[in-house]
Order: sequence, then structure tokens, then C-alpha cells
Amino acid sequence: MSENIQHLELAVYGKGGIGKSTISANLTAALAQRGLRVLQIGCDPKHDSTRALMGGERIPTVLDVLRDRGKENAVIEDVLRSGYLGCGCIEAGGPQPGVGCAGRGIISAFEFLGRYSLRESYDRVIYDVLGDVVCGGFAVSVRREYADAVFLVTSGEYMALYAANNILRGIRNFDSDRYARVAGIIYNERKLEDEDGRVKRFADAVGLPVLAKVPKSEAFALAEEKNVTLMQLEGDLPEKKVFEYLAELVSSPLKLHKANPLSDEDHERIVLGNETSLSVSVPAPEAAETQDAAQETSVSGSTQKVTRRPLYGCAFNGAATTAVHLTDAVVIAHGPKACAFYTWQNISSPGRRNIFNRGVLMPSSISPNFESTDISHNEAVFGGMELLRRSVRDALDRKPGAVIVISTCVSGIIGDDLSSIEEMSTDEVPVIALATDGDLAGDYMEGLRMAQETILQRLVDRQAPEVPMSVNIIGETAIASNADSNFAVMERLLGMMGIRVNCRCFGSCTASELRGLLSAPVNILAANTSDALELKEYLEKNFGCRFLDAPLPIGLEATSEWLLSLGDIFGCREKAREIIQQERRMYDEAVGRAASRLRGKRVFLTAINARTDWLMDTVLDAGMEFCHIGVLNYMRSPLIVTEHPDRLSMITEITSTAQTEELRRELRPDIVISAYTVPKGDDDVVYDVIPMLPDLGMLSAVMILQRWISLMDTNRKGSWENDRELFEKYYS
Ligand code: SF4
Repeated sequence: MSENIQHLELAVYGKGGIGKSTISANLTAALAQRGLRVLQIGCDPKHDSTRALMGGERIPTVLDVLRDRGKENAVIEDVLRSGYLGCGCIEAGGPQPGVGCAGRGIISAFEFLGRYSLRESYDRVIYDVLGDVVCGGFAVSVRREYADAVFLVTSGEYMALYAANNILRGIRNFDSDRYARVAGIIYNERKLEDEDGRVKRFADAVGLPVLAKVPKSEAFALAEEKNVTLMQLEGDLPEKKVFEYLAELVSSPLKLHKANPLSDEDHERIVLGNETSLSVSVPAPEAAETQDAAQETSVSGSTQKVTRRPLYGCAFNGAATTAVHLTDAVVIAHGPKACAFYTWQNISSPGRRNIFNRGVLMPSSISPNFESTDISHNEAVFGGMELLRRSVRDALDRKPGAVIVISTCVSGIIGDDLSSIEEMSTDEVPVIALATDGDLAGDYMEGLRMAQETILQRLVDRQAPEVPMSVNIIGETAIASNADSNFAVMERLLGMMGIRVNCRCFGSCTASELRGLLSAPVNILAANTSDALELKEYLEKNFGCRFLDAPLPIGLEATSEWLLSLGDIFGCREKAREIIQQERRMYDEAVGRAASRLRGKRVFLTAINARTDWLMDTVLDAGMEFCHIGVLNYMRSPLIVTEHPDRLSMITEITSTAQTEELRRELRPDIVISAYTVPKGDDDVVYDVIPMLPDLGMLSAVMILQRWISLMDTNRKGSWENDRELFEKYYS
């Protein structure tokens, strides 16, 4: 850096085509003529900012070098060129129009330049930045670690002033009201009607000075023809005075102003009209936040510091969680590894829970058929379709049942068009595109539905021949840890009836099983959950599927009725009766054993509005009694917990968990079971939680009773840490 000259970095912003590159290059030339060391960095994908300083040469851009040589091999000498009077010239560059993300490109270029202490070795750094689209990427140079001062280049055209106002908004978002960083306006005249008036009205309204007026002049065209800046032309041209003045201005301390953008309405009124004063300016972000906060406080009456709203995954997450249930498909997440990783956590969580429950067995959901294209910064900048095609080709080579591609936010933002990828389908392997674009297609549930419907439409064979004595299981809650064990229970019962499972539709099935979905004459809903009911409706409407009235059964009564209705449909009612008797004997024996320990115990039950007859039946069969049955109106479904009219008198609607706690202390039950976690109280009371998805079949509640017995034994031993058996099972 030249002695006694304070380092300064200046961002020259303006609408594309407004002349900011010409102004930047002439300012650089004027500063160089004053003996300053200047570095000009072009931040416009057009990459012609430094062309005049380089005598017409187009220099390699940072992004071209990063793409061609790779991040690791690229060095500063590849991109830094010496121009007029030794000024430094760099072009950030950008992708081809319509692909990739130019904003991300600017970020990558700045990351690369940040590896070198380059900027500090110049007296002045000038960033020439495209200002039409002030996305995060193009705003990099305006971040506080870069530009000390910002110049707005504008003409009197409405759109140029609109872009200038937008730039002020971007600066305001970065700086809020704390910093003053705008030096002023450089007015590049176009010779329009009322142009001076428009620029003046805008400048007055945003409180900025017009630092210089660059006159419309043939001298600029002449310089362009000669591939030089105007400052390099021979002669004492009046236009040179403008840049000499600007160079002098930025050679001494600058007076800076805060960004004070106009609202769109004010901008239009002031620029197009004749007013010179403002009615309202856009409030600072802090002010807006304060207003919101105040509103929230006045509505709620208190400030809520902790929110407990559930968090939802993105559509990509929902679609991927659905797609991996096609066990022979390759599911490709088109995006960064991180998106696939977080979704893997979701998919693998039941498997990981099973590892804890069952020891070292490795459930398949731990390593799902899920891959990532692993978009890197290169694809994010230049587009990722080639990378995706390579990944799909590689997947097709492995001859899977299907290849399913799902887009993430990043691939969506850079504009990768997934629909074209379906053309890679072969006769044997369909390629299915799910363009969720991360969260653009909605949340987890919307992604899940999109995946189900798209995959069904692509795969299901409408001519599939009927397979008698078969059923499909529809809408299993795949992320439940007992999904597989529940299926095993049902498969056993169906097998005893001579009925086979044709397809687990989005449970765990192959592409060919899904193709033959319509072979099964009857469909059974896994549970009456809202998403399963929606899938049922879709299948009925679009494929004419026929459903059994009842979903997979929970508990003694429901299982008996379910077996009888299956017997009616498949003409084997006698067989169903036999199985019911056989299962009932097992149930009676198990309940008898539990009753020897539990008879007379007082149970305190708090349910949410979901049927719990399956639990009540077995509690009563084991000789226990309810000291309280409360129902918490929690879900948007009717307030029903029983279908037995005689039990209705036992049920109280409760309005808060605090009310339940009070009752519990007063009634002193032996066993507390509830639909939510209750704070543990006395040591000799058993506390348990009603499972969200109970085990299926006649023994659902029997298993809960067995758990209560072991919890009672654990309590008797003092606390669970003293239970050697339990300790060894989990920790030794
Ligand atoms: S929201 Fe976007 S970035 Fe986040 S996990 Fe989903 S796809 Fe990835």
C-alpha cells in the first residue's frame, strides 16, 4: 500500500447496463493516474468490468478457473491480471444464463479471494457489482468485512432508480440503522425528459447527495472502440474532470450516509410525480420487529420465551422417507450431502431404537437405499444436471427396481429441471422424478403425499391379474419402531386364514409388488391415521381399490371382529371362528397370569381422544378397576375413547394436565397410564405411557400388563439402578 494512504474498499452498484463498469474502470484509471495502487473486482456474470483497463483482453474469471482447475489447485495468479498503470484486475464471473446460481458464484469467488491477503496490498479496491438482483450472493461485497463505502450509479430511468432503491434496501438489511456506508449517487445521464428532476427528487427523498453527473458523450464510445478507458484518451476532455473529481473525493475521508430506502409506493410517486418531500419511508427492520413483538405481547398479555410447537420436515424429507420403502429402488437425493444426512437420521431412527431394544441385530432401515448426488459449490454455481445424470446412469447400471430422484432446496434454487431425467428410464427400470425442491413443494406431509401419488401413478399396473385370497396393507406408519413386529403379527393371523399379503403399500415392498398392487381384491388400512385415510381415499378414487371397513385391529374384541369380517369376504368364516378360539385361549391364559399379580389394583387412565377400549377391556378382564378415566381433548377428532355405552359414565373430560395431577394426588392410584408423559411421583406407583401406535392383535394390552408387573418388581427393588438384571441387559 502507498505510504500515508488509508486503505478503502468501494462498491459501485447499479442496474445492469447502466454504465457502472465504465464508471468503475474510469475511476480506477483516474486513481491510478494519481499514483494509487488500485484493484478492480468485477462482480457481474457478464465479466467485462476490467476489459478497458486490460486493453480489450477478457481475463479468465475466478469461477472458470475454480471449475476447470478445482478449488484445491486454483491459485491467485490464475485470475489476477495487471492492467492500466499496474492496476489489479479480477473478474468473479458466473454461470451460463438459465443454469446454476450466479449469487452463489460470487460467494465462491469471494471465498477463494479471501484465501489471499490481496485486497490489503492495494490502496483502493473497487467492486463493480450488478445491482438488479440483490440476492445474498450479490450482496457479499456490501457486507461489512468488504465495502467501506457504496456508490449508487443511476440514470433518471425509472428502472435504474428502482434498482438503486433496491440496493439501498439490501444495504439497510445488512446495516439496519447502525452504520452509515452510502457515499452517494453517481448520475449517469441518458438525456431523458425531466431526468435531472427525477434523479434530484429520488436523491432528496433518500437523503443522498448526487456526487457527480457523468454527461452523455461520444467520448465513451470512442474509448470503447480503442479498448481503453476514457481517462486514457488523448486530450483535455471535459468528461475526464468528472472522474478526476471522483478520484479526489475517494482519496480523502468520505462523508457517508445511512441507507434510507423508499417504499414502492413512495418511490413511484416521487420518481414519476413532482413531489420533493416524503410522506413515509420504509421502517428500519428493528422498528418493524419491535412493532411485531409489541403486537404479540398485547395479544398474549405476556412474553412467551419458549415455544413448543412441533417442527416439521421439508417436502424433500417426506418424499425421501416414503420412497425408501421401495426396498429394491435406488433413491437419489439431488442436493448436498447434508440434506440426505438429516433425512437419513429420520429414516433410520426406528432402526436405531430397535438396536437398543434387540441388541446387535442390524435393522435394514439403518442403511436405507438412499444416496446423494453430493452437490458441491461447482454444481451450485454452474448447474447440477450433468452430475445428476451421472448418478442416475450409475444407479441404472445396478438394475434396481426403480430409480427415484428427489430434488432439494439447492437443486431447486439453481434451476435443475428434474422432469427431463425421467427420459433416462429403460424398458426394465423406471426413473421417477419427485421435484420437491426442498421445502418449495411444502412440508413433510405434502412431500409424503407427492411421493406416494407420483410413484403409484408411475408404477401401478392397471391390468394386473387378480390374485385370489390376497390383501394389501395400506399406509403403515413406517417410522414407528413396532411397524415390522406389528406386520409380523398380522401376517401370521392372515396366514392362518390362508390369506397372503400381496403388497405393503409404502410399508416395505418392491417395485414389482407395487406394480401388482391391483392384484389383491381387498385392501386393509394399517391404522385410521389422517395420512393413511388420505392414501385410502386416493386409491379408491384413482384406482378403484376396495377396502375392508376396519383397519388392522388392536386388542381382543377388535381382532375377533376383524377376523370374522375377513372370513365373510373370503368365504372362510368357520376358519376365522377357529382362530379366534385358539387366540382367545392364549389371551385368557396370559391375562390369568397377569391377574394373579394385578387383581384389585386401581388404574388411573388419561387418554386423548382416541379409542382405548382395547386397554380397558384387558384391565377389567384382569380384575383391576379404574379409579379415574379422563380424556384430554387434544386432537381434532371426536371426543371418544370407548364404544361401550356403559363405560361412558366413568369418563370425565379434562381441560388441563394440572387438573389431572390434582386428581391423581387425591385418588392415590396404583398404576398411572396416560397419553402424555406424567411427572413421576411416589416410588411405589407404576407410571406408563399409552403407545401412540399400540401393538396389534389380541395381546396388545396383555403386553402392557406384563410391563406393569416388571415395573412393580423394579420399584420394589428400590430404583431401577439396583435391578442387576436390567443393568446387565443394557449396560454390561
Ligand atoms: S429444507 Fe432444503 S436444505 Fe433443509 S433438508 Fe430440506 S431440502 Fe435440505
